[in-house]
Amino acid sequence: MSHELEFYIDGDWVRPSEGTTFDIFNPATEDAFAKVASASRSDVDRAVMAASAAFRSFRNTTIAERIELLEAIAAALKPRLPEIGELIMLEMGAPRWLAVDMQSRMALDHFTSLIDVLRTVSFTTRESGAEIVREPIGVCGIITPWNAPVAQVVGKVLPALAAGNTVVVKPSEMSPLSPLLLAEAMHEAGVPKGVFNLVNGEGAVGAMIAGHPDIPMISFTGSTATGIKVGRLAAETVKRVHQELGGKGANILLADADFGSAVATGVTHCFLNSGQVCVAPTRMLVPEDRLEEVVALARAQAEKMTVGDPGAAGSQLGPLANRMQFEKVQHLIQTGIDEGATLVTGGTGRPAGLNRGYYVKPTVFANVTPDMTIAQQEIFGPVLSIMTYMDVEDAIRIANDTPYGLTSYVSSADAGEARKVASRLEAGNVVVNYSPRHTGVPVGGYKQSGNGRQNGLHGLMEYMEMKAIVGVG
Ligand code: NAD
Repeated sequence: MSHELEFYIDGDWVRPSEGTTFDIFNPATEDAFAKVASASRSDVDRAVMAASAAFRSFRNTTIAERIELLEAIAAALKPRLPEIGELIMLEMGAPRWLAVDMQSRMALDHFTSLIDVLRTVSFTTRESGAEIVREPIGVCGIITPWNAPVAQVVGKVLPALAAGNTVVVKPSEMSPLSPLLLAEAMHEAGVPKGVFNLVNGEGAVGAMIAGHPDIPMISFTGSTATGIKVGRLAAETVKRVHQELGGKGANILLADADFGSAVATGVTHCFLNSGQVCVAPTRMLVPEDRLEEVVALARAQAEKMTVGDPGAAGSQLGPLANRMQFEKVQHLIQTGIDEGATLVTGGTGRPAGLNRGYYVKPTVFANVTPDMTIAQQEIFGPVLSIMTYMDVEDAIRIANDTPYGLTSYVSSADAGEARKVASRLEAGNVVVNYSPRHTGVPVGGYKQSGNGRQNGLHGLMEYMEMKAIVGVG
Protein backbone atom coordinates (compact mmCIF):
# COMPACT_ATOMS: atom_id res chain seq x y z
CA MET A 1 0.00 0.00 0.00
CA SER A 2 1.73 3.17 -1.08
CA HIS A 3 -0.91 5.63 -2.25
CA GLU A 4 -2.55 6.79 1.00
CA LEU A 5 -1.03 10.22 0.65
CA GLU A 6 -1.97 10.62 -3.01
CA PHE A 7 -5.04 10.94 -5.19
CA TYR A 8 -5.67 9.28 -8.52
CA ILE A 9 -6.32 12.07 -11.02
CA ASP A 10 -6.02 12.18 -14.81
CA GLY A 11 -4.49 8.71 -15.04
CA ASP A 12 -1.79 9.28 -12.45
CA TRP A 13 -1.08 9.20 -8.74
CA VAL A 14 -0.70 12.84 -7.71
CA ARG A 15 0.34 14.65 -4.53
CA PRO A 16 -2.38 16.76 -2.87
CA SER A 17 -2.10 20.53 -3.21
CA GLU A 18 -2.10 20.86 0.61
CA GLY A 19 -0.63 18.63 3.28
CA THR A 20 -3.78 17.88 5.31
CA THR A 21 -4.27 14.27 6.40
CA PHE A 22 -6.67 12.29 8.57
CA ASP A 23 -6.15 9.13 10.62
CA ILE A 24 -7.59 5.69 9.93
CA PHE A 25 -8.45 3.65 13.01
CA ASN A 26 -8.65 -0.09 13.42
CA PRO A 27 -12.04 -0.56 15.14
CA ALA A 28 -10.87 -3.81 16.75
CA THR A 29 -8.08 -2.03 18.66
CA GLU A 30 -9.20 1.64 18.51
CA ASP A 31 -5.64 2.50 17.37
CA ALA A 32 -4.78 4.71 14.40
CA PHE A 33 -2.74 2.73 11.88
CA ALA A 34 -2.63 4.87 8.72
CA LYS A 35 -2.79 8.45 7.54
CA VAL A 36 -4.68 9.42 4.40
CA ALA A 37 -4.44 12.68 2.44
CA SER A 38 -7.45 14.97 2.49
CA ALA A 39 -8.40 16.85 -0.68
CA SER A 40 -8.72 20.61 -0.87
CA ARG A 41 -10.99 22.47 -3.27
CA SER A 42 -8.19 22.75 -5.83
CA ASP A 43 -7.67 18.95 -5.79
CA VAL A 44 -11.40 18.44 -6.38
CA ASP A 45 -11.34 21.04 -9.19
CA ARG A 46 -8.38 19.29 -10.75
CA ALA A 47 -10.17 15.95 -10.67
CA VAL A 48 -13.36 17.44 -12.13
CA MET A 49 -11.38 19.18 -14.87
CA ALA A 50 -9.65 15.92 -15.81
CA ALA A 51 -13.00 14.09 -15.85
CA SER A 52 -14.62 16.82 -17.98
CA ALA A 53 -11.79 16.70 -20.52
CA ALA A 54 -11.89 12.90 -20.68
CA PHE A 55 -15.65 12.88 -21.18
CA ARG A 56 -15.28 14.55 -24.59
CA SER A 57 -13.82 11.39 -26.07
CA PHE A 58 -14.98 8.69 -23.65
CA ARG A 59 -18.63 9.48 -24.36
CA ASN A 60 -18.06 8.30 -27.95
CA THR A 61 -16.74 4.84 -27.06
CA THR A 62 -18.85 1.93 -28.28
CA ILE A 63 -20.61 -0.58 -26.06
CA ALA A 64 -18.13 -3.23 -27.24
CA GLU A 65 -15.21 -1.04 -26.14
CA ARG A 66 -16.78 -0.44 -22.74
CA ILE A 67 -17.37 -4.17 -22.24
CA GLU A 68 -13.72 -4.77 -23.04
CA LEU A 69 -12.71 -2.09 -20.54
CA LEU A 70 -14.90 -3.54 -17.77
CA GLU A 71 -13.42 -6.98 -18.44
CA ALA A 72 -9.92 -5.54 -18.16
CA ILE A 73 -10.77 -3.82 -14.86
CA ALA A 74 -12.27 -7.05 -13.45
CA ALA A 75 -9.13 -8.95 -14.49
CA ALA A 76 -6.89 -6.38 -12.75
CA LEU A 77 -9.11 -6.31 -9.66
CA LYS A 78 -9.35 -10.08 -9.14
CA PRO A 79 -5.78 -10.70 -7.90
CA ARG A 80 -6.12 -7.72 -5.55
CA LEU A 81 -9.25 -9.03 -3.82
CA PRO A 82 -7.48 -10.89 -0.99
CA GLU A 83 -5.52 -7.72 -0.10
CA ILE A 84 -8.68 -5.63 -0.44
CA GLY A 85 -10.41 -8.01 1.97
CA GLU A 86 -7.57 -7.70 4.51
CA LEU A 87 -7.80 -3.90 4.30
CA ILE A 88 -11.57 -3.94 4.75
CA MET A 89 -11.05 -6.08 7.82
CA LEU A 90 -8.54 -3.58 9.23
CA GLU A 91 -10.36 -0.37 8.40
CA MET A 92 -13.97 -1.31 9.16
CA GLY A 93 -13.77 -4.47 11.25
CA ALA A 94 -15.64 -6.95 9.04
CA PRO A 95 -14.63 -10.54 9.90
CA ARG A 96 -12.21 -12.06 7.40
CA TRP A 97 -14.80 -14.47 5.91
CA LEU A 98 -17.11 -11.54 5.23
CA ALA A 99 -14.47 -9.07 4.03
CA VAL A 100 -12.48 -11.44 1.86
CA ASP A 101 -15.15 -13.81 0.59
CA MET A 102 -18.52 -12.07 0.61
CA GLN A 103 -17.64 -8.42 0.03
CA SER A 104 -15.02 -9.20 -2.61
CA ARG A 105 -17.34 -11.57 -4.42
CA MET A 106 -20.03 -8.86 -4.39
CA ALA A 107 -17.60 -6.47 -6.11
CA LEU A 108 -16.82 -8.99 -8.87
CA ASP A 109 -20.49 -9.96 -9.31
CA HIS A 110 -21.22 -6.34 -10.25
CA PHE A 111 -18.93 -6.74 -13.28
CA THR A 112 -20.54 -9.95 -14.46
CA SER A 113 -24.11 -8.75 -14.17
CA LEU A 114 -23.43 -5.38 -15.77
CA ILE A 115 -21.51 -6.90 -18.68
CA ASP A 116 -24.52 -9.20 -19.23
CA VAL A 117 -26.75 -6.13 -19.43
CA LEU A 118 -24.41 -4.35 -21.83
CA ARG A 119 -24.39 -7.34 -24.18
CA THR A 120 -28.13 -7.00 -24.82
CA VAL A 121 -28.95 -3.34 -24.18
CA SER A 122 -29.76 -0.92 -26.98
CA PHE A 123 -29.32 2.80 -26.39
CA THR A 124 -31.59 3.68 -29.30
CA THR A 125 -35.30 2.82 -29.52
CA ARG A 126 -38.37 4.23 -31.26
CA GLU A 127 -41.44 5.58 -29.48
CA SER A 128 -44.40 7.64 -30.75
CA GLY A 129 -42.66 8.22 -34.06
CA ALA A 130 -39.50 9.60 -32.46
CA GLU A 131 -36.05 8.18 -32.04
CA ILE A 132 -35.27 7.83 -28.34
CA VAL A 133 -31.56 7.92 -27.64
CA ARG A 134 -29.86 7.29 -24.32
CA GLU A 135 -26.69 9.29 -23.85
CA PRO A 136 -24.17 9.60 -21.04
CA ILE A 137 -24.67 12.54 -18.68
CA GLY A 138 -21.10 13.74 -18.12
CA VAL A 139 -18.96 13.81 -14.99
CA CYS A 140 -20.57 11.80 -12.18
CA GLY A 141 -19.65 12.64 -8.59
CA ILE A 142 -19.70 9.43 -6.54
CA ILE A 143 -19.85 9.54 -2.74
CA THR A 144 -19.98 6.28 -0.77
CA PRO A 145 -20.28 4.95 2.81
CA TRP A 146 -18.01 2.63 4.78
CA ASN A 147 -20.04 -0.51 5.27
CA ALA A 148 -18.89 -2.26 2.05
CA PRO A 149 -16.14 0.09 0.92
CA VAL A 150 -15.16 -1.40 -2.45
CA ALA A 151 -18.47 -3.00 -3.49
CA GLN A 152 -20.19 0.36 -2.88
CA VAL A 153 -17.74 2.20 -5.16
CA VAL A 154 -17.80 -0.53 -7.83
CA GLY A 155 -21.63 -0.60 -7.76
CA LYS A 156 -21.65 3.03 -8.89
CA VAL A 157 -18.49 3.42 -10.98
CA LEU A 158 -19.30 0.49 -13.28
CA PRO A 159 -22.71 1.67 -14.50
CA ALA A 160 -21.36 5.23 -14.77
CA LEU A 161 -18.53 4.07 -17.07
CA ALA A 162 -20.73 1.55 -18.88
CA ALA A 163 -23.00 4.46 -19.82
CA GLY A 164 -20.02 6.45 -21.16
CA ASN A 165 -19.60 8.87 -18.26
CA THR A 166 -16.46 9.82 -16.39
CA VAL A 167 -16.25 9.88 -12.58
CA VAL A 168 -14.84 11.63 -9.55
CA VAL A 169 -15.08 9.29 -6.56
CA LYS A 170 -14.87 10.08 -2.87
CA PRO A 171 -15.02 6.98 -0.70
CA SER A 172 -15.89 7.17 2.99
CA GLU A 173 -13.22 8.68 5.20
CA MET A 174 -13.77 5.71 7.54
CA SER A 175 -12.64 3.14 4.96
CA PRO A 176 -10.61 4.78 2.18
CA LEU A 177 -7.72 2.30 2.01
CA SER A 178 -9.38 -0.57 0.14
CA PRO A 179 -10.81 1.71 -2.61
CA LEU A 180 -7.22 2.84 -3.38
CA LEU A 181 -6.60 -0.70 -4.65
CA LEU A 182 -9.55 -0.33 -7.00
CA ALA A 183 -7.84 2.79 -8.39
CA GLU A 184 -4.66 0.73 -8.86
CA ALA A 185 -6.69 -1.84 -10.80
CA MET A 186 -8.20 0.91 -12.99
CA HIS A 187 -4.69 2.11 -13.77
CA GLU A 188 -3.39 -1.34 -14.60
CA ALA A 189 -6.45 -2.05 -16.77
CA GLY A 190 -5.62 0.96 -18.95
CA VAL A 191 -8.70 3.04 -18.17
CA PRO A 192 -8.15 6.16 -20.31
CA LYS A 193 -6.75 9.05 -18.33
CA GLY A 194 -9.31 11.26 -16.64
CA VAL A 195 -12.11 8.69 -16.92
CA PHE A 196 -11.73 7.49 -13.30
CA ASN A 197 -10.54 9.93 -10.63
CA LEU A 198 -10.42 9.36 -6.89
CA VAL A 199 -9.92 11.87 -4.07
CA ASN A 200 -10.19 11.29 -0.34
CA GLY A 201 -11.45 13.33 2.55
CA GLU A 202 -14.21 13.82 5.09
CA GLY A 203 -17.74 15.11 4.53
CA ALA A 204 -16.52 18.57 3.48
CA VAL A 205 -14.87 17.04 0.41
CA GLY A 206 -18.13 15.24 -0.42
CA ALA A 207 -19.88 18.60 -0.13
CA MET A 208 -17.41 20.16 -2.62
CA ILE A 209 -18.31 17.41 -5.09
CA ALA A 210 -22.05 17.61 -4.39
CA GLY A 211 -22.06 21.34 -5.08
CA HIS A 212 -19.54 21.42 -7.94
CA PRO A 213 -20.92 23.40 -10.90
CA ASP A 214 -19.21 21.19 -13.51
CA ILE A 215 -20.67 17.93 -12.21
CA PRO A 216 -24.12 17.21 -13.69
CA MET A 217 -24.84 14.06 -11.66
CA ILE A 218 -24.26 12.91 -8.09
CA SER A 219 -24.62 9.31 -7.05
CA PHE A 220 -24.69 9.07 -3.28
CA THR A 221 -25.01 6.22 -0.81
CA GLY A 222 -25.10 6.99 2.88
CA SER A 223 -27.41 8.15 5.63
CA THR A 224 -30.67 9.92 4.93
CA ALA A 225 -29.46 12.98 6.88
CA THR A 226 -26.39 13.36 4.63
CA GLY A 227 -28.44 12.51 1.55
CA ILE A 228 -30.67 15.51 2.28
CA LYS A 229 -27.59 17.78 2.53
CA VAL A 230 -26.25 16.40 -0.75
CA GLY A 231 -29.63 16.98 -2.40
CA ARG A 232 -29.67 20.62 -1.25
CA LEU A 233 -26.14 21.28 -2.54
CA ALA A 234 -26.90 19.58 -5.85
CA ALA A 235 -30.12 21.57 -6.32
CA GLU A 236 -28.12 24.78 -6.85
CA THR A 237 -27.09 23.53 -10.29
CA VAL A 238 -30.06 21.20 -10.86
CA LYS A 239 -27.99 18.03 -10.88
CA ARG A 240 -29.37 14.55 -11.36
CA VAL A 241 -29.21 13.04 -7.86
CA HIS A 242 -29.26 9.31 -7.28
CA GLN A 243 -29.57 8.46 -3.59
CA GLU A 244 -29.33 5.14 -1.78
CA LEU A 245 -30.10 6.00 1.83
CA GLY A 246 -31.01 4.42 5.14
CA GLY A 247 -33.42 1.58 5.86
CA LYS A 248 -35.53 0.06 8.64
CA GLY A 249 -36.49 -3.26 7.08
CA ALA A 250 -39.64 -5.01 8.26
CA ASN A 251 -39.52 -8.78 8.42
CA ILE A 252 -43.07 -10.16 8.49
CA LEU A 253 -43.41 -13.76 9.57
CA LEU A 254 -46.88 -14.90 8.50
CA ALA A 255 -48.56 -17.43 10.80
CA ASP A 256 -47.87 -20.37 8.45
CA ALA A 257 -44.11 -19.69 8.18
CA ASP A 258 -41.63 -22.24 9.48
CA PHE A 259 -40.74 -20.27 12.61
CA GLY A 260 -37.86 -22.57 13.54
CA SER A 261 -35.83 -21.49 10.56
CA ALA A 262 -37.44 -18.09 9.78
CA VAL A 263 -36.60 -16.62 13.20
CA ALA A 264 -33.02 -17.93 13.22
CA THR A 265 -32.40 -16.71 9.66
CA GLY A 266 -33.96 -13.34 10.48
CA VAL A 267 -31.62 -12.89 13.45
CA THR A 268 -28.56 -13.90 11.40
CA HIS A 269 -29.50 -11.55 8.54
CA CYS A 270 -30.13 -8.70 10.97
CA PHE A 271 -26.69 -9.14 12.55
CA LEU A 272 -24.70 -9.57 9.30
CA ASN A 273 -21.75 -7.14 9.12
CA SER A 274 -22.54 -6.40 12.79
CA GLY A 275 -25.86 -4.97 11.67
CA GLN A 276 -24.25 -2.38 9.41
CA VAL A 277 -26.32 -3.26 6.35
CA CYS A 278 -28.89 -0.87 4.91
CA VAL A 279 -31.16 -3.74 3.81
CA ALA A 280 -31.05 -5.56 7.18
CA PRO A 281 -34.36 -7.01 8.47
CA THR A 282 -34.29 -5.05 11.74
CA ARG A 283 -37.97 -5.22 12.74
CA MET A 284 -39.32 -8.76 13.10
CA LEU A 285 -43.14 -8.70 12.96
CA VAL A 286 -44.82 -11.79 14.42
CA PRO A 287 -48.38 -12.82 15.37
CA GLU A 288 -49.25 -11.79 18.96
CA ASP A 289 -49.91 -15.37 20.05
CA ARG A 290 -46.49 -16.58 18.82
CA LEU A 291 -44.42 -14.00 20.72
CA GLU A 292 -43.17 -16.31 23.45
CA GLU A 293 -41.99 -18.92 20.95
CA VAL A 294 -40.29 -16.27 18.76
CA VAL A 295 -38.51 -14.69 21.71
CA ALA A 296 -37.09 -18.06 22.78
CA LEU A 297 -35.90 -18.83 19.23
CA ALA A 298 -34.39 -15.35 18.73
CA ARG A 299 -32.61 -15.44 22.07
CA ALA A 300 -31.13 -18.86 21.34
CA GLN A 301 -29.86 -17.72 17.94
CA ALA A 302 -28.46 -14.38 19.17
CA GLU A 303 -26.67 -16.02 22.09
CA LYS A 304 -25.06 -18.53 19.73
CA MET A 305 -23.42 -15.81 17.66
CA THR A 306 -19.75 -15.22 18.33
CA VAL A 307 -18.37 -11.71 18.56
CA GLY A 308 -14.63 -11.16 18.38
CA ASP A 309 -11.44 -10.23 16.58
CA PRO A 310 -12.31 -10.00 12.89
CA GLY A 311 -9.09 -11.83 12.07
CA ALA A 312 -9.89 -14.82 14.30
CA ALA A 313 -11.43 -17.89 12.73
CA GLY A 314 -14.95 -18.34 14.08
CA SER A 315 -15.80 -14.66 14.66
CA GLN A 316 -19.24 -14.12 13.19
CA LEU A 317 -19.45 -10.48 14.23
CA GLY A 318 -16.58 -8.03 14.36
CA PRO A 319 -16.64 -4.60 16.01
CA LEU A 320 -18.68 -1.72 14.65
CA ALA A 321 -16.72 0.31 12.14
CA ASN A 322 -15.95 3.38 14.22
CA ARG A 323 -16.35 5.14 17.55
CA MET A 324 -19.20 7.36 16.38
CA GLN A 325 -21.25 4.35 15.29
CA PHE A 326 -20.44 2.49 18.53
CA GLU A 327 -21.64 5.42 20.63
CA LYS A 328 -24.76 5.88 18.52
CA VAL A 329 -25.70 2.20 18.88
CA GLN A 330 -25.02 2.19 22.65
CA HIS A 331 -27.26 5.23 22.98
CA LEU A 332 -30.07 3.63 20.96
CA ILE A 333 -29.90 0.40 23.00
CA GLN A 334 -30.24 2.48 26.17
CA THR A 335 -33.13 4.39 24.58
CA GLY A 336 -34.88 1.07 23.84
CA ILE A 337 -34.57 0.11 27.53
CA ASP A 338 -35.67 3.57 28.72
CA GLU A 339 -38.72 3.60 26.46
CA GLY A 340 -39.92 0.28 27.90
CA ALA A 341 -38.97 -2.38 25.32
CA THR A 342 -38.16 -5.79 26.85
CA LEU A 343 -34.45 -6.58 26.63
CA VAL A 344 -34.32 -10.26 25.66
CA THR A 345 -30.55 -10.54 25.36
CA GLY A 346 -27.54 -8.27 24.88
CA GLY A 347 -27.75 -4.67 26.07
CA THR A 348 -25.30 -1.83 26.54
CA GLY A 349 -21.55 -2.29 27.02
CA ARG A 350 -19.12 -4.63 25.30
CA PRO A 351 -19.56 -8.41 25.21
CA ALA A 352 -17.84 -10.28 28.06
CA GLY A 353 -14.07 -10.60 27.62
CA LEU A 354 -13.75 -7.73 25.11
CA ASN A 355 -12.39 -4.63 26.78
CA ARG A 356 -11.18 -2.76 23.70
CA GLY A 357 -12.63 -2.23 20.26
CA TYR A 358 -16.06 -1.12 19.16
CA TYR A 359 -17.72 -4.45 19.91
CA VAL A 360 -21.45 -4.49 20.64
CA LYS A 361 -23.47 -7.27 22.27
CA PRO A 362 -25.88 -8.92 19.82
CA THR A 363 -29.08 -7.45 21.18
CA VAL A 364 -32.71 -8.51 20.88
CA PHE A 365 -35.65 -6.46 22.10
CA ALA A 366 -39.24 -7.70 22.35
CA ASN A 367 -42.51 -5.84 22.95
CA VAL A 368 -41.28 -3.03 20.74
CA THR A 369 -44.13 -0.73 19.71
CA PRO A 370 -44.25 1.42 16.58
CA ASP A 371 -43.93 4.67 18.54
CA MET A 372 -40.57 3.68 20.07
CA THR A 373 -37.34 5.20 18.80
CA ILE A 374 -35.85 1.76 18.08
CA ALA A 375 -38.85 0.96 15.86
CA GLN A 376 -38.41 4.14 13.83
CA GLN A 377 -34.71 5.03 13.63
CA GLU A 378 -32.08 3.16 11.68
CA ILE A 379 -29.67 1.74 14.30
CA PHE A 380 -27.00 0.23 12.02
CA GLY A 381 -25.78 -2.17 14.69
CA PRO A 382 -26.60 -5.74 15.80
CA VAL A 383 -29.97 -4.87 17.33
CA LEU A 384 -33.23 -6.65 16.50
CA SER A 385 -36.66 -5.32 17.45
CA ILE A 386 -39.43 -7.91 17.75
CA MET A 387 -42.91 -6.46 17.30
CA THR A 388 -46.31 -8.16 17.33
CA TYR A 389 -49.27 -7.82 14.98
CA MET A 390 -52.95 -8.74 15.40
CA ASP A 391 -53.66 -9.71 11.79
CA VAL A 392 -52.07 -9.36 8.35
CA GLU A 393 -53.58 -5.87 7.83
CA ASP A 394 -51.98 -4.79 11.11
CA ALA A 395 -48.63 -6.30 10.05
CA ILE A 396 -48.70 -4.34 6.77
CA ARG A 397 -49.60 -1.13 8.59
CA ILE A 398 -46.73 -1.54 11.07
CA ALA A 399 -44.29 -2.51 8.31
CA ASN A 400 -45.08 0.69 6.39
CA ASP A 401 -45.05 2.90 9.46
CA THR A 402 -41.52 4.35 9.23
CA PRO A 403 -40.01 7.13 7.10
CA TYR A 404 -37.94 4.46 5.28
CA GLY A 405 -38.77 2.08 2.44
CA LEU A 406 -35.69 0.18 1.34
CA THR A 407 -36.05 -3.60 1.77
CA SER A 408 -38.69 -5.63 3.57
CA TYR A 409 -39.06 -9.37 4.03
CA VAL A 410 -42.02 -11.78 4.16
CA SER A 411 -41.91 -15.44 5.16
CA SER A 412 -44.75 -17.84 4.49
CA ALA A 413 -45.36 -21.43 3.41
CA ASP A 414 -47.75 -19.97 0.81
CA ALA A 415 -45.88 -18.03 -1.88
CA GLY A 416 -49.17 -16.56 -3.15
CA GLU A 417 -49.96 -15.05 0.27
CA ALA A 418 -46.42 -13.69 0.59
CA ARG A 419 -46.78 -12.11 -2.88
CA LYS A 420 -50.05 -10.41 -1.84
CA VAL A 421 -48.39 -8.92 1.23
CA ALA A 422 -45.35 -7.88 -0.85
CA SER A 423 -47.59 -5.86 -3.15
CA ARG A 424 -48.76 -3.79 -0.17
CA LEU A 425 -45.33 -2.98 1.27
CA GLU A 426 -43.78 0.44 0.66
CA ALA A 427 -40.28 -0.78 -0.15
CA GLY A 428 -38.01 -0.86 -3.18
CA ASN A 429 -37.30 -4.55 -2.58
CA VAL A 430 -39.38 -7.25 -0.91
CA VAL A 431 -37.60 -10.54 -0.26
CA VAL A 432 -39.80 -13.63 0.13
CA ASN A 433 -38.54 -16.49 2.30
CA TYR A 434 -35.03 -14.96 2.40
CA SER A 435 -34.43 -15.83 -1.26
CA PRO A 436 -30.96 -14.83 -2.49
CA ARG A 437 -30.84 -11.64 -4.55
CA HIS A 438 -28.95 -11.59 -7.88
CA THR A 439 -26.58 -8.62 -8.28
CA GLY A 440 -28.60 -7.47 -11.27
CA VAL A 441 -31.77 -6.92 -9.22
CA PRO A 442 -32.50 -3.18 -8.92
CA VAL A 443 -32.18 -1.94 -5.34
CA GLY A 444 -33.27 1.40 -3.97
CA GLY A 445 -35.78 3.07 -1.79
CA TYR A 446 -39.32 4.32 -1.48
CA LYS A 447 -39.86 7.37 0.75
CA GLN A 448 -36.76 8.60 2.62
CA SER A 449 -34.66 5.59 1.60
CA GLY A 450 -33.66 7.31 -1.61
CA ASN A 451 -34.25 8.10 -5.24
CA GLY A 452 -33.55 5.93 -8.24
CA ARG A 453 -32.32 2.35 -8.45
CA GLN A 454 -28.92 0.72 -8.49
CA ASN A 455 -27.84 -2.45 -10.38
CA GLY A 456 -28.87 -4.13 -13.60
CA LEU A 457 -30.49 -2.38 -16.56
CA HIS A 458 -32.44 0.06 -14.38
CA GLY A 459 -29.27 1.02 -12.52
CA LEU A 460 -27.46 1.64 -15.81
CA MET A 461 -30.24 3.95 -17.05
CA GLU A 462 -29.85 6.15 -13.94
CA TYR A 463 -26.53 7.28 -15.43
CA MET A 464 -28.00 8.25 -18.81
CA GLU A 465 -29.82 11.21 -20.30
CA MET A 466 -32.70 10.60 -22.68
CA LYS A 467 -32.94 12.46 -25.95
CA ALA A 468 -35.98 12.28 -28.25
CA ILE A 469 -35.18 13.10 -31.86
CA VAL A 470 -38.30 13.93 -33.79
CA GLY A 471 -38.59 14.02 -37.58
CA VAL A 472 -35.93 11.55 -38.58
CA GLY A 473 -38.20 8.95 -40.17
P1 NAD B 1 -22.78 9.08 5.92
O1 NAD B 1 -24.01 9.68 5.38
O2 NAD B 1 -22.25 9.56 7.20
O3 NAD B 1 -21.55 9.26 4.89
C1 NAD B 1 -21.63 8.79 3.56
C2 NAD B 1 -20.65 9.58 2.70
O4 NAD B 1 -21.07 10.94 2.64
C3 NAD B 1 -19.22 9.61 3.23
O5 NAD B 1 -18.33 9.47 2.14
C4 NAD B 1 -19.11 11.00 3.84
O6 NAD B 1 -17.81 11.52 3.86
C5 NAD B 1 -19.97 11.80 2.89
N1 NAD B 1 -20.48 13.06 3.46
C6 NAD B 1 -20.65 13.41 4.75
N2 NAD B 1 -21.16 14.66 4.85
C7 NAD B 1 -21.32 15.10 3.58
C8 NAD B 1 -21.83 16.30 3.01
N3 NAD B 1 -22.28 17.30 3.76
N4 NAD B 1 -21.87 16.42 1.67
C9 NAD B 1 -21.44 15.40 0.87
N5 NAD B 1 -20.94 14.24 1.35
C10 NAD B 1 -20.89 14.08 2.69
O7 NAD B 1 -23.06 7.51 5.92
P2 NAD B 1 -22.16 6.36 6.57
O8 NAD B 1 -22.27 6.50 8.04
O9 NAD B 1 -20.84 6.35 5.91
O10 NAD B 1 -22.95 5.05 6.09
C11 NAD B 1 -24.02 4.53 6.76
C12 NAD B 1 -25.33 4.93 6.12
O11 NAD B 1 -25.33 4.54 4.74
C13 NAD B 1 -26.52 4.24 6.73
O12 NAD B 1 -27.57 5.15 6.91
C14 NAD B 1 -26.91 3.18 5.69
O13 NAD B 1 -28.24 2.77 5.71
C15 NAD B 1 -26.57 3.90 4.44
N6 NAD B 1 -26.38 2.92 3.35
C16 NAD B 1 -27.34 2.81 2.40
C17 NAD B 1 -27.22 1.87 1.40
C18 NAD B 1 -28.27 1.73 0.33
O14 NAD B 1 -28.02 1.06 -0.67
N7 NAD B 1 -29.45 2.31 0.49
C19 NAD B 1 -26.10 1.05 1.36
C20 NAD B 1 -25.15 1.17 2.37
C21 NAD B 1 -25.30 2.13 3.35
